[in-house]
Amino acid sequence: MGYVKGLRCRECGREYPKEPINICEFCFGPLEVTYQYDEIRKVLSREVIASRPPNMWRYAELMPLDNGPTVGFDVGFTPLVRAHNLGKALGVSELYLKNDAVSHPTLSFKDRVVAVAVSKAREFGFDTVACASTGNLANAVAASAASAGMNSYIFIPSDLEQGKVIGTQVFGTHLVGVLGSYDDVNRLCTEIADRYRWAFVNINIRPFYAEGSKTFGYEIVEQMGWRVPKHIVVPMAGGSLITKIRKSFKEFQEIGLIEPESCGTRFYGAQAAGCSPIVTAVKNGTDLFKPVKPNTIAKSLAIGNPADGFYAIQAIKQSGGWAEEVTDDEIVEGIKLLAETEGVFTETAGGVTVGVTKKLIEQGRIPGDESIVISITGNGLKTQEALIGKVKEHQVIDSKLSSFEALLLEKGAEVW
Ligand SMILES: *Cc1c(COP(=O)(O)O)cnc(C)c1O
Ligand SMILES: [Zn+2]
Repeated sequence: MGYVKGLRCRECGREYPKEPINICEFCFGPLEVTYQYDEIRKVLSREVIASRPPNMWRYAELMPLDNGPTVGFDVGFTPLVRAHNLGKALGVSELYLKNDAVSHPTLSFKDRVVAVAVSKAREFGFDTVACASTGNLANAVAASAASAGMNSYIFIPSDLEQGKVIGTQVFGTHLVGVLGSYDDVNRLCTEIADRYRWAFVNINIRPFYAEGSKTFGYEIVEQMGWRVPKHIVVPMAGGSLITKIRKSFKEFQEIGLIEPESCGTRFYGAQAAGCSPIVTAVKNGTDLFKPVKPNTIAKSLAIGNPADGFYAIQAIKQSGGWAEEVTDDEIVEGIKLLAETEGVFTETAGGVTVGVTKKLIEQGRIPGDESIVISITGNGLKTQEALIGKVKEHQVIDSKLSSFEALLLEKGAEVW
């Protein structure tokens, strides 16, 4: 098993063998996994995929493992929900949510990338996995390392939400809070990765790790009945997910699972106004972004110097899409709008995506009569701080029927 050719530099095209490396030693460009698509085309059909269990490994031939997964067997195949109510609220006719708020086991799409990274780390013979994280990756790596019986070191900015901190520590990892932003954490981790023989999932294992995000896109295509949406809105932190969803659509075209002409999806990037280097570059029409110092409640997206920012900008531009940002207040509104219309509780990143979708529709950038997918990437139970004082207080009564009926009267409801 295994259809990986090797690694290739995205800038100069130099080829590298399958090793735990992420940067081209000649031009410092990022390395990307390459596949034998001609071989994959022979073995992977819609029927073969449909006959497999509902998890991300139904697309295993397009994942960068040589021996198949050893962790994360239940990750993926999250619901694609037809969002009639939210569609009505936004004035569009064909709206879907890809809902990784209910990803197994740690409630964000990071379970996908980590399932690949930890399986790959085992293939490479590492006994310790590590990461720099804005929160969700920390949860996913800690859980996956626990189930794999591996040692783990996890580095986060010291001011993350309690749900993300406890939701990491519970797995018995070595969690290190660093005074500073994610970008400071990442810089430190790059130094640590140079010195210790650990599998840093988003540093030396990054080319393999990032491929896991493609399954988010494969699933959308399959769940829409083997077609791509006309429009997709994707939250951006490091900018990897948006580029990998685009790659997933192109690969399905390349191996003949969908018609080439059906690949006209427009990609829209979403960020918080308090950390929007990629959005700013798209709006200014520049190829390069300016790093920023993040200040937003969307901590999972708070990367001021996005590793894949350049490629995210390219993906958005080439697809004919756009990028937009929302304020912290609009993020909270987005979270509540999604919850009240669709019964889905997303985290701050999802509030960003919903808020940006609303804006793009209002601006007329996304038309009302074509298919639209909103990417929901994480769960609201992890970022409850964002809603403290922003939802209605619940009412407290003593345990008497009369007290309850007094409350009903107060609400103007009928009392029987
Ligand atoms: C990490 C993360 C993202 C963004 O992923 P990138 O690939 O870094 O752009 C989006 N949503 C959530 C909830 C995340 O945790
Ligand atoms: Zn290079």
